[in-house]
Amino acid sequence: MAAAEPVSRHVSLIRGSIGERFVAIYVIVGHRVALVDTGFADHPRSAIQPALSALGLSLQDIDLVLTTHGHADHMGGHAAVVSASAARVRIHAGDSGRLHARSVMSDDEFARVFRRLGLDERAAERERMLVEVTGGTVAVGRPLRDGDRIDLGAGVALEVVETPGHTAGSVTFLVHPDGTALAGDAIQGLGGGSGLPLYEDPDAYRASLVRLAGLDVAQVGLGHAFRSAHVDGSAIVAGARLGPLLDESARFVDIAAQTAAAVVAMRRPSMTDAVEQFLRRLPPPYATPGADLETLGGASLHAAWLHLERALDDAGGAYRAEGAPVPR
Ligand SMILES: [Zn+2]
Repeated sequence: MAAAEPVSRHVSLIRGSIGERFVAIYVIVGHRVALVDTGFADHPRSAIQPALSALGLSLQDIDLVLTTHGHADHMGGHAAVVSASAARVRIHAGDSGRLHARSVMSDDEFARVFRRLGLDERAAERERMLVEVTGGTVAVGRPLRDGDRIDLGAGVALEVVETPGHTAGSVTFLVHPDGTALAGDAIQGLGGGSGLPLYEDPDAYRASLVRLAGLDVAQVGLGHAFRSAHVDGSAIVAGARLGPLLDESARFVDIAAQTAAAVVAMRRPSMTDAVEQFLRRLPPPYATPGADLETLGGASLHAAWLHLERALDDAGGAYRAEGAPVPR
């Protein structure tokens, strides 16, 4: 039976399994009960309900469903929680458009990069998976904004800190008085299950890491157990390890930008070739020797594409179509 693992006085972690990995779902208990993220569509039944039972609660007791960001593995369970309770759903305006199943597919970074690289089969497979894990449409309450304070009663409150970059609407919830920051995927160390760290805006992601460094927190709850030299198989990071983890996370952005610039200067014959070169030339622990487009994770391909496009742009070139030469 799924357990609720204590994180701090008012916060518990629930693991929603995704193959051999998991998405972290958090329950915060004051007079009112809030969930931060809900996992995939089946997680309310398979993980959240059993864990709530262990706390003497049930899905019906959920008052608020809060969203760190609009990815399917963090909000696929929203509809099931809402239909079992009277919970209100809240999300940042930057990601609220992603709450609908159709948007989840059209906004999907992995499917997009698979198609750009001519990996149509993988794009179709990814889209089939997204349909399966995304629940129905839900109504949303007032958009989350920086500085919002959400009072759960009994002296427990969540403060919203905008931490965009992974997605435009990514936020961190700071739980008072616990000093626990629930950061979703705003901090990714060396990356997650699909390879390298995933972000749609590297500059914003980096700036958010700097902002998080300025918070006074006792512990951080991440969205997954990211690979890291400072965290080991856990989604929970003690405050003392936060600085090194943030530095490690930011370092990747710089390394990726430098590697992409070096590959663009090599004038590879095609974008596909440039992507493979990028992934081979990254220094340890990021390098994927013998990298093969067919087997590389979506996040790795996305990071390669994003940084190469930016490096091309800086070099005054632009990528036009699959197989087109990297401009000289
Ligand atoms: Zn995410």
